[in-house]
Amino acid sequence: MERIHVLGTGNALVTHCYNTCFYLELDEGGLLVDCGGGNGILRQLEDAGIDPLSIRHIFVSHEHCDHILGVVWLVRMIGTAMNKGSREGDLTIHCHAGLAEPILTFCCCTLGAKLTGLFGRRIHIRPVADGEERVIGGRVFTFFDIRSTKAPQFGFAAQLAAGRLAFMGDEPVNPACEDHARGARWLLSEAFCLAAEADRFKPYEKHHSTAADAARLAARLGAENLVLWHTEESDLAHRKARYTTEAQQFFAGGVYVPDDLDVIDL
Ligand SMILES: [Zn+2]
Repeated sequence: MERIHVLGTGNALVTHCYNTCFYLELDEGGLLVDCGGGNGILRQLEDAGIDPLSIRHIFVSHEHCDHILGVVWLVRMIGTAMNKGSREGDLTIHCHAGLAEPILTFCCCTLGAKLTGLFGRRIHIRPVADGEERVIGGRVFTFFDIRSTKAPQFGFAAQLAAGRLAFMGDEPVNPACEDHARGARWLLSEAFCLAAEADRFKPYEKHHSTAADAARLAARLGAENLVLWHTEESDLAHRKARYTTEAQQFFAGGVYVPDDLDVIDL
Protein backbone atom coordinates (compact mmCIF):
# COMPACT_ATOMS: atom_id res chain seq x y z
CA MET A 1 0.00 0.00 0.00
CA GLU A 2 1.33 3.43 -0.92
CA ARG A 3 0.52 6.17 1.56
CA ILE A 4 1.24 9.67 2.71
CA HIS A 5 2.62 10.07 6.21
CA VAL A 6 1.72 13.65 7.03
CA LEU A 7 4.55 15.16 9.04
CA GLY A 8 3.39 18.76 9.14
CA THR A 9 0.40 20.78 7.99
CA GLY A 10 1.08 24.38 8.91
CA ASN A 11 2.37 27.47 7.14
CA ALA A 12 5.77 29.01 7.81
CA LEU A 13 5.05 30.67 11.14
CA VAL A 14 3.06 28.01 12.96
CA THR A 15 4.01 27.00 16.48
CA HIS A 16 1.33 24.42 17.37
CA CYS A 17 1.88 22.12 14.43
CA TYR A 18 4.85 21.50 12.14
CA ASN A 19 5.51 23.14 8.77
CA THR A 20 3.93 21.32 5.84
CA CYS A 21 5.94 18.31 4.74
CA PHE A 22 5.25 14.61 4.24
CA TYR A 23 6.78 11.24 3.62
CA LEU A 24 5.44 9.51 0.53
CA GLU A 25 5.72 5.79 1.22
CA LEU A 26 6.07 3.83 -2.01
CA ASP A 27 6.05 0.12 -2.66
CA GLU A 28 9.84 0.32 -3.02
CA GLY A 29 11.13 2.92 -0.57
CA GLY A 30 9.82 6.43 -0.38
CA LEU A 31 10.37 10.14 -0.78
CA LEU A 32 10.47 12.81 1.92
CA VAL A 33 8.86 15.91 0.45
CA ASP A 34 10.18 19.06 2.12
CA CYS A 35 11.66 19.05 5.58
CA GLY A 36 10.05 21.86 7.52
CA GLY A 37 12.04 24.53 9.25
CA GLY A 38 14.34 22.72 11.61
CA ASN A 39 15.11 20.03 14.12
CA GLY A 40 11.37 19.34 14.54
CA ILE A 41 11.57 17.12 11.46
CA LEU A 42 13.34 14.52 13.58
CA ARG A 43 10.53 14.52 16.14
CA GLN A 44 7.85 14.33 13.46
CA LEU A 45 9.55 11.37 11.79
CA GLU A 46 9.95 9.64 15.15
CA ASP A 47 6.30 10.19 16.05
CA ALA A 48 5.27 8.95 12.59
CA GLY A 49 7.27 5.78 13.10
CA ILE A 50 9.60 6.50 10.20
CA ASP A 51 13.27 5.77 10.79
CA PRO A 52 15.20 8.75 9.38
CA LEU A 53 18.03 6.37 8.54
CA SER A 54 15.71 4.57 6.13
CA ILE A 55 15.26 7.70 4.00
CA ARG A 56 17.03 7.45 0.63
CA HIS A 57 15.39 10.34 -1.22
CA ILE A 58 14.43 13.87 -0.22
CA PHE A 59 12.76 16.46 -2.43
CA VAL A 60 13.05 20.13 -1.47
CA SER A 61 10.48 22.28 -3.28
CA HIS A 62 11.91 25.73 -2.69
CA GLU A 63 14.16 27.96 -0.64
CA HIS A 64 11.76 29.26 1.99
CA CYS A 65 12.87 28.47 5.51
CA ASP A 66 9.77 26.43 6.37
CA HIS A 67 10.69 23.91 3.65
CA ILE A 68 14.45 23.80 3.38
CA LEU A 69 16.10 24.14 6.78
CA GLY A 70 15.08 20.73 8.12
CA VAL A 71 17.30 19.15 5.50
CA VAL A 72 20.37 20.21 7.50
CA TRP A 73 19.20 18.03 10.41
CA LEU A 74 18.62 15.03 8.20
CA VAL A 75 22.06 15.40 6.66
CA ARG A 76 23.43 15.57 10.18
CA MET A 77 21.58 12.48 11.39
CA ILE A 78 21.98 10.35 8.28
CA GLY A 79 25.56 11.50 7.66
CA THR A 80 26.56 10.68 11.22
CA ALA A 81 25.17 7.18 10.79
CA MET A 82 27.00 6.83 7.46
CA ASN A 83 30.26 7.75 9.15
CA LYS A 84 29.63 5.22 11.91
CA GLY A 85 28.89 2.53 9.38
CA SER A 86 25.33 2.12 10.62
CA ARG A 87 23.66 3.44 7.47
CA GLU A 88 24.02 1.73 4.12
CA GLY A 89 23.00 3.28 0.83
CA ASP A 90 23.36 6.84 -0.35
CA LEU A 91 21.08 9.82 0.22
CA THR A 92 19.86 11.80 -2.79
CA ILE A 93 18.42 15.28 -2.41
CA HIS A 94 16.30 16.28 -5.41
CA CYS A 95 15.69 19.99 -5.99
CA HIS A 96 15.67 22.62 -8.70
CA ALA A 97 19.06 23.88 -9.83
CA GLY A 98 18.90 27.06 -7.79
CA LEU A 99 18.72 25.15 -4.51
CA ALA A 100 21.83 23.02 -4.85
CA GLU A 101 24.18 25.77 -3.76
CA PRO A 102 22.04 27.03 -0.84
CA ILE A 103 21.59 23.51 0.55
CA LEU A 104 25.30 22.88 0.36
CA THR A 105 26.03 26.27 1.92
CA PHE A 106 23.59 25.78 4.81
CA CYS A 107 25.18 22.40 5.54
CA CYS A 108 28.74 23.67 5.22
CA CYS A 109 28.02 26.61 7.56
CA THR A 110 26.42 24.49 10.24
CA LEU A 111 27.89 20.99 10.05
CA GLY A 112 31.40 19.69 10.49
CA ALA A 113 33.80 18.58 7.79
CA LYS A 114 33.22 14.90 8.55
CA LEU A 115 29.63 15.38 7.48
CA THR A 116 30.06 17.81 4.62
CA GLY A 117 32.80 15.56 3.25
CA LEU A 118 30.04 13.10 2.41
CA PHE A 119 28.65 15.36 -0.31
CA GLY A 120 29.50 13.93 -3.67
CA ARG A 121 30.43 10.59 -2.13
CA ARG A 122 27.40 9.37 -0.17
CA ILE A 123 25.10 12.38 -0.19
CA HIS A 124 24.11 13.68 -3.60
CA ILE A 125 22.30 16.86 -4.51
CA ARG A 126 20.72 16.16 -7.89
CA PRO A 127 19.13 19.20 -9.54
CA VAL A 128 16.04 18.50 -11.65
CA ALA A 129 15.02 20.49 -14.70
CA ASP A 130 11.50 21.67 -15.47
CA GLY A 131 9.63 18.72 -16.97
CA GLU A 132 12.32 16.19 -16.10
CA GLU A 133 11.25 12.65 -15.27
CA ARG A 134 13.02 10.71 -12.57
CA VAL A 135 12.32 7.24 -11.17
CA ILE A 136 12.19 7.20 -7.37
CA GLY A 137 11.13 4.15 -5.40
CA GLY A 138 10.09 2.42 -8.61
CA ARG A 139 7.69 5.22 -9.61
CA VAL A 140 8.00 7.82 -12.33
CA PHE A 141 8.04 11.39 -11.03
CA THR A 142 7.75 14.38 -13.35
CA PHE A 143 9.13 17.49 -11.68
CA PHE A 144 7.93 20.87 -12.85
CA ASP A 145 8.37 24.56 -12.17
CA ILE A 146 5.17 25.83 -10.51
CA ARG A 147 5.97 29.30 -11.91
CA SER A 148 6.00 31.07 -8.60
CA THR A 149 6.28 34.82 -8.59
CA LYS A 150 8.00 34.79 -5.16
CA ALA A 151 10.88 32.33 -5.38
CA PRO A 152 11.56 29.50 -7.83
CA GLN A 153 9.58 26.48 -6.71
CA PHE A 154 9.04 23.00 -8.13
CA GLY A 155 6.23 20.50 -7.67
CA PHE A 156 5.82 17.05 -9.13
CA ALA A 157 3.37 14.56 -10.57
CA ALA A 158 3.98 10.94 -9.59
CA GLN A 159 2.49 7.90 -11.29
CA LEU A 160 1.49 5.69 -8.36
CA ALA A 161 -0.32 2.36 -8.28
CA ALA A 162 -3.60 4.16 -7.53
CA GLY A 163 -3.11 6.81 -10.22
CA ARG A 164 -1.46 10.20 -10.53
CA LEU A 165 -0.56 12.21 -7.46
CA ALA A 166 0.08 15.91 -8.08
CA PHE A 167 2.01 17.94 -5.52
CA MET A 168 1.50 21.58 -6.44
CA GLY A 169 3.70 23.26 -3.81
CA ASP A 170 2.58 26.00 -1.45
CA GLU A 171 1.06 28.50 -3.89
CA PRO A 172 -2.11 28.71 -5.97
CA VAL A 173 -1.88 26.54 -9.09
CA ASN A 174 -0.60 28.50 -12.05
CA PRO A 175 -2.74 27.94 -15.18
CA ALA A 176 0.41 26.79 -17.00
CA CYS A 177 0.69 23.88 -14.55
CA GLU A 178 -2.92 22.75 -14.56
CA ASP A 179 -2.27 19.77 -16.82
CA HIS A 180 -0.28 18.11 -14.04
CA ALA A 181 -3.30 18.29 -11.75
CA ARG A 182 -6.04 17.65 -14.32
CA GLY A 183 -7.74 14.33 -13.63
CA ALA A 184 -5.32 13.51 -10.82
CA ARG A 185 -6.31 10.79 -8.41
CA TRP A 186 -4.73 12.90 -5.66
CA LEU A 187 -4.32 16.66 -5.77
CA LEU A 188 -2.17 18.05 -2.94
CA SER A 189 -2.83 21.76 -2.54
CA GLU A 190 -2.14 24.53 -0.13
CA ALA A 191 -5.07 26.30 1.50
CA PHE A 192 -4.00 29.09 3.78
CA CYS A 193 -7.38 29.69 5.39
CA LEU A 194 -11.14 29.49 4.92
CA ALA A 195 -12.74 31.81 2.39
CA ALA A 196 -15.05 32.75 5.24
CA GLU A 197 -12.02 34.13 7.10
CA ALA A 198 -10.13 35.69 4.21
CA ASP A 199 -10.57 39.18 5.64
CA ARG A 200 -8.82 38.07 8.80
CA PHE A 201 -5.95 36.03 7.32
CA LYS A 202 -5.48 37.82 3.99
CA PRO A 203 -4.40 34.82 1.91
CA TYR A 204 -4.17 36.74 -1.36
CA GLU A 205 -1.66 39.24 0.01
CA LYS A 206 0.55 36.23 0.80
CA HIS A 207 -0.12 34.62 -2.57
CA HIS A 208 -2.07 31.73 -1.08
CA SER A 209 -5.48 30.11 -1.63
CA THR A 210 -8.51 29.51 0.52
CA ALA A 211 -10.08 26.08 1.02
CA ALA A 212 -12.89 27.19 -1.31
CA ASP A 213 -10.41 28.26 -4.01
CA ALA A 214 -8.59 24.93 -3.89
CA ALA A 215 -11.88 23.02 -3.95
CA ARG A 216 -13.17 24.95 -6.96
CA LEU A 217 -9.93 24.24 -8.77
CA ALA A 218 -10.08 20.53 -7.92
CA ALA A 219 -13.64 20.39 -9.27
CA ARG A 220 -12.76 22.26 -12.46
CA LEU A 221 -9.74 20.05 -13.12
CA GLY A 222 -11.61 16.83 -12.40
CA ALA A 223 -9.40 15.65 -9.57
CA GLU A 224 -10.69 12.71 -7.55
CA ASN A 225 -9.29 13.55 -4.12
CA LEU A 226 -8.06 16.80 -2.63
CA VAL A 227 -5.61 17.19 0.24
CA LEU A 228 -5.44 20.63 1.88
CA TRP A 229 -2.57 21.82 4.07
CA HIS A 230 -0.06 24.64 4.66
CA THR A 231 -2.78 26.40 6.68
CA GLU A 232 -3.08 28.93 9.45
CA GLU A 233 -3.33 27.41 12.91
CA SER A 234 -5.87 29.49 14.82
CA ASP A 235 -8.27 26.59 15.45
CA LEU A 236 -6.41 23.33 14.90
CA ALA A 237 -8.92 21.40 17.00
CA HIS A 238 -11.66 22.15 14.47
CA ARG A 239 -9.61 22.76 11.34
CA LYS A 240 -10.35 19.38 9.79
CA ALA A 241 -14.11 19.78 10.15
CA ARG A 242 -14.28 23.43 9.18
CA TYR A 243 -12.01 23.25 6.13
CA THR A 244 -13.65 20.02 4.96
CA THR A 245 -17.11 21.55 5.21
CA GLU A 246 -16.07 24.59 3.19
CA ALA A 247 -14.27 22.55 0.51
CA GLN A 248 -17.20 20.15 0.13
CA GLN A 249 -19.44 23.04 -0.91
CA PHE A 250 -17.44 23.27 -4.13
CA PHE A 251 -15.95 19.82 -4.68
CA ALA A 252 -17.76 16.48 -4.67
CA GLY A 253 -14.64 14.30 -4.53
CA GLY A 254 -12.73 13.19 -1.45
CA VAL A 255 -11.57 16.02 0.80
CA TYR A 256 -8.72 15.43 3.23
CA VAL A 257 -7.62 18.05 5.71
CA PRO A 258 -5.02 16.13 7.69
CA ASP A 259 -3.62 16.84 11.11
CA ASP A 260 0.10 16.34 11.68
CA LEU A 261 0.91 12.62 11.77
CA ASP A 262 -2.24 11.52 9.93
CA VAL A 263 -1.71 8.77 7.39
CA ILE A 264 -3.52 8.86 4.04
CA ASP A 265 -3.81 5.56 2.18
CA LEU A 266 -3.48 6.28 -1.53
ZN1 LIG B 1 5.71 27.33 2.81
